[in-house]
Amino acid sequence: MVERNTLWSDITDRFREELGRPSYDNFIQPARLASFDASQHNAVIEVPNELSRERWLNTYSSQFTTFAFETNQMLLSNIDVRIVEPVVDLIEEIEKNNRLSSQQMRPGDSTKTTLKHGNNLDAKYIFDTFVVGATNQLAYGAALAVSEGSLEYNPLLLYGGVGLGKTHLMQATGNNALVNNPNQRVLYVTSEQFTNDFISAVRNGTTEKLREEYRNADLLLVDDVQFLSGKESTQEEFFHTFNDILGHSGRIVMTSDRLPKDIPDLQDRLVSRFQWGLSVDINKPDFETRIAILLEKAEKENISVDRNVIEFIAKQVDSNVRELEGVFKRVAIMAKFNQSAGDTVSIDDATKILAELDIAQKSEITISFIQETVAKFFAISISDLKGKKRNKEIVMPRQIAMYLSRELTDNSLPNIGREFGGKDHTTVMHATDKISAALESNKLIQNQITTLKKQINGD
Ligand code: ADP
Ligand code: MG
Repeated sequence: MVERNTLWSDITDRFREELGRPSYDNFIQPARLASFDASQHNAVIEVPNELSRERWLNTYSSQFTTFAFETNQMLLSNIDVRIVEPVVDLIEEIEKNNRLSSQQMRPGDSTKTTLKHGNNLDAKYIFDTFVVGATNQLAYGAALAVSEGSLEYNPLLLYGGVGLGKTHLMQATGNNALVNNPNQRVLYVTSEQFTNDFISAVRNGTTEKLREEYRNADLLLVDDVQFLSGKESTQEEFFHTFNDILGHSGRIVMTSDRLPKDIPDLQDRLVSRFQWGLSVDINKPDFETRIAILLEKAEKENISVDRNVIEFIAKQVDSNVRELEGVFKRVAIMAKFNQSAGDTVSIDDATKILAELDIAQKSEITISFIQETVAKFFAISISDLKGKKRNKEIVMPRQIAMYLSRELTDNSLPNIGREFGGKDHTTVMHATDKISAALESNKLIQNQITTLKKQINGD
C-alpha cells in the first residue's frame, strides 16, 4: 500500500518537472493531498483559495490523475478539490489590530505589498476556443463587445451555474481587450482575491496603493461576486472601486452564480449597481453544442475519437462543460494509450470512464414505472391499481404502489395522488402510513416490498 506522503511527493516531483516555477510555487506547493482511496479512485486535494481550486479543477487534477498512474499505477480519477481556509471578512478585525500596532511599524515595511499578480489573465482562455451555442450566444456577444471597448453594457454581468463558461468568457474578454489595445489596464480577480488583497493591504497599511491599482483599471474583471455575500467591509470597498471605475469610463465585467438580487447579504446599493448595465445568463449547452465542444477539444489536443463515441459522451454528460471536459480528459488519456497500440477509444471504454466518474445518467424512476411493476407483480390491471375499487386484492397493491412512489421518487403527496386517478393527498398519506406500519411486523409485506424495490431499481 502506497503511503499518502510518498504518493504526494512522487506526484509533486512530476509536477515540478512539467510545470514552470511560478505555477508550481503558486498552485502545487501550497496544495496538499488530504486523503485518497485507491479502491474508490477518490482523492481529496486541499488548496488555499478559489483561484487555486479553479486551476486544480481545470488543469491540475487531470495531470494529477496521469501522474498518480505513471508513478504508482494508481487510478485516482475522482478528484475533489476543497478550499481549506474559507475566506472570512477579516478586514475590520485587522483594522482594529492595526491601529494598535501601527506605532511599531517601521517605515518601509509597507512598501512590500503590491498586487502580487500581474493582470491574472490566463492565455488559454480566448474567444476562439469558446464554442458558441444557443445557450451562451448572448453572453458571448456581449463579452466580445466589451472586449472591443463598448461601453454599452457597463457593467456586464454574466450569471449561471458552475462549469458553464463564465470564467472562460470573462478571461477571454480581458485577453482580447489587450490584443485590441495593449496599453489598457486590465485586471482579473476573483471576489475572494479582491477580499484577500484588501485584507493584506489593510494589514500592511498599503490600502492607498492597492486602491489606486484597482480604481485606475480600464477593464476590471471580477469573478464570482456571489462570494461578496456577507462581507460588509469588502462590499464597501468594492462599492467605491466600482464607482471610480465607471466614473472614468472604465469597464467592469462580473460573473455570479445567480442574479444579484438573489445573493444573500449583499448591500442594496450594490444589487442595484450590478444591474445598471446588462445581465446575461449562461445556460447548460444543448446536445449539438456539447458535440461541438468535444470536437473542439479533440482537435485542440490532436486526438482522434470516433464520432459515435463523441455523440455517446455528449448524450450522457449533460450537466455542464466542466464535467464534459473531465470526461474528455480521461478519454484523451486513454486515446493516447490506445493509439500506441493502434487502437481507438470504443463506446465500451467511454462507458467505463463514465461509470468510474460516476456520471453515467441514471434512468429516473417514475410513478408509472412503479405502477407497472406493482400491477404485474400482483397480477392486476393498471386501471384497477389507479381506480376506485375497494376490495382487498386491489387496495393492498395500490397502497404498496403509493408507498413505493413516495419512497423511490421525489414526488409530493398531491402529485402521487394525481397519478393514482386523482386521489386526495390524505389518501396517499394514509396508504404510506399503513404500509410503513405493516412493514414493522408483517413478513410477507416485507418480502414483497424488498422484491419490488429490486425490480424497480433494476438490480
Ligand atoms: P464557470 O466559470 O462558469 O464555472 P468555466 O469558465 O470555468 O466555468 O468553464 C469550465 C471549463 O469548461 C473551462 O475549462 C472552459 O474552458 C470550458 N468551457 C465552458 N464553456 C465552454 C464553451 N462554450 N466552449 C469551450 N469550452 C468551454
Ligand atoms: Mg468560474
